[in-house]
Formats: sequence, structure tokens, C-alpha cells
Amino acid sequence: MAKRADATPGTRALVGRRAARSYPLTPAPSGASVEDVRIRDRLESGFPVFSFEFFPPKTPEGDAKLWEALEELRGLSPAFVSVTWGAGGSTRARTVDLTRRIKAELGIEAMAHLTCTGASADEIGDALTTLREAKVQNILALRGDPPKGSDRFERPKDGFGFASELVGYVKARGDFCVGAACYPEGHVEASSKYEDLHNLKKKVDAGVDFLITQLFFDNRVYFDFVDRARAAGIHVPIIPGLMPITNVDQVRRFTEMCGASIPPALLDALEKRRDHPERVHELGVAHATIQALGLIQGGAPGVHFYTLNKSSASRDILTAMRTSARL
Ligand code: FAD
Repeated sequence: MAKRADATPGTRALVGRRAARSYPLTPAPSGASVEDVRIRDRLESGFPVFSFEFFPPKTPEGDAKLWEALEELRGLSPAFVSVTWGAGGSTRARTVDLTRRIKAELGIEAMAHLTCTGASADEIGDALTTLREAKVQNILALRGDPPKGSDRFERPKDGFGFASELVGYVKARGDFCVGAACYPEGHVEASSKYEDLHNLKKKVDAGVDFLITQLFFDNRVYFDFVDRARAAGIHVPIIPGLMPITNVDQVRRFTEMCGASIPPALLDALEKRRDHPERVHELGVAHATIQALGLIQGGAPGVHFYTLNKSSASRDILTAMRTSARL
């Protein structure tokens, strides 16, 4: 049995069925034709669910690089690929189109992110209709961040103020499989982790099928959070979100924005390599590989990789896991 040294009894209980098996072999890739797969069904299969997140590029060069990255990662048979919804709802049409194309042209199951930002319920309803027609049935329902320069999210006219309201709306518009975000270290606007968890419970009760976490760099943060979530009555699968570090300034910026912490020893090691980008990249990949393996061994249902549209780090990590641990 794959055993996690730091597993608490609570965590072991929650992962029970999965933790009791040794590494399962992932079924062979099913080729380019994709059935309409709901992520909740994949999660129920008992095999680790690996996925990659991309954002819609702004330029033709960015677009070309994205498709190259997608082609490379496709060989690793991800369970799904997700496409972000730009800040302020700026990429609405591109998000919908890219999600549709990934599914239709690459045969990879795709999930569209959708936020409450800058859109009325009717406009979100139109996006859902287009997605349903394109057979995209997996949606990550989010509130979105406040606009730049503001620290408060304003409910759009005729729109939604919290992700929980969007979750309920999406569920009422069809048989979508709906994911949502969660924050192991607490959401930046919440006054406490307790309050954030209380709000998360309301969101899950609105119909969430699974959760994806904000990035984190210490697996104990994830497992402690899962324990707290289970104790609060949240029982949907919680997929850990990992971002392989490839740039020191970038990870400092991201963590400041989202309230995640970097363990001091890791930060120190990164700073020592600051002037050698390739060594930062190597350390970032090594750290994320160990994290990902530890998460699966500890019973996490999969790993969602924040790729920032670059395939190499996530590809190397998943390749190492597939070849060494047969995941
Ligand atoms: P919510 O769940 O609505 O929570 C927001 C805040 O309100 C929290 O502090 C919560 O505690 C509080 N709250 C919730 N419900 C209530 C209530 N009923 N009463 C009082 N307070 C409440 N952003 C994008 O713009 N585009 C993306 O594509 C995108 N993708 C993401 C993917 C992942 C996996 C993650 C983790 C985040 C993503 N984000 C994205 C960022 C996200 O939009 C922000 O973190 C945003 O600030 C909160 O979104 P949410 O869906 O978690 O909001």
C-alpha cells in the first residue's frame, strides 16, 4: 500500500478506498475521439485524474505556442484540459472557442472556466448554450477577482455576487458537471479560514461536483485542508492544484496575489539560484514532482497543473510519475 508518512487518521479515513490500493495502471489512451465525459465520473473511476490548465492567448504567436504545448501534453492522456476566463470576463468568446476546439480537434475532454465578472445572468446563459452545443459539459464556476485597483468585487447588474450563485445557475441550465475553487490557506478576502470554509460549504451545497485548490507548495497544507473540509461536511473530491515554479519573481507575485505561502527553505533555495534561470526551473520541476507524487500516495484524487501555457515543466513531471510510478 502506498503510505504517506504524514497522514493523519482523518485523512486516511477520507481517502480510504484510494489509499488502500497500490499504484493503479492508467488505462491506455483512448485516441482522438472523446466521449462526453463528466469529470465527476472520471473521479469516481478510482484512477488518478491528471489535468492541465491554459489561458486563451492574446496573439497569433501565443496561439501557435499554445497548440504546440497542447499537442505535447496530449500524448500524456490528460483526463481533461481547462481554459481560464480572463480577468474581468475579457476572454469570454476566446475561452468558449478554445474549449470547444480542444475537445473537437484534439479529442481531449475540456472544461471551461466561467466567472461572474462583468456579465449578466443572460450573458452567462448564452455562453452556457454555446458550450452545451459544443458538447462541453464540464464547467469551473468562479466568482472572479475584483477589477484592478479595487479590493471589492461588485455584483454586475443582473448578475451574480458569489460563485455559489453561479453554481446554482449553471446546474439549473443543464446537466453540467460543475467544479469550483477552494483555498487551503484561506481566500484573501475572507476574515478567517473558518469563515472561508463555511462559505465553501454553502458553495458545495449549491451543487458542486468537485473542487480544485489554489496553488500551494507544502503538501501538509493540502492534507490539513482536506481534513478540515471533511470535518465541515464537504465530501466532494478535492483535486490539488500545482504550479511548477519556473521563475522566482513570478512565483513571488502570484503567491502575494493569492495569499499562498512558499516554505522558507524553498524560497531560500530559489533565491540562491535567482541568477541561473535553468537551475530555478530544475528545482521547480523537482519540487513539484515530489509534491505530486506525495499527493497521489497520500490519496489525492489527481493533480491539476497550472501550466501558464508552457508544457515542458508539467510534461516532465507527469512523464516522471507515469514512468516511475506507473500512474
Ligand atoms: P467565491 O467562492 O464566491 O468566494 C469569494 C469570497 O467570498 C471568499 O472570500 C468567500 O469566503 C466569500 N464568500 C463566498 N460566499 C459567500 C457568501 N455567501 N457570503 C459571504 N461571503 C461569501 N479567476 C478568473 O478571473 N478566471 C479564471 O479562469 C480563474 N480560474 C481559477 C481556477 C482555480 C482553480 C482557482 C483556485 C481560482 C481561479 N480564479 C480565476 C481566481 C478566482 O476567481 C478568485 O480567487 C476569486 O477571488 C474568488 O473566486 P471564487 O470562485 O473562489 O469565489
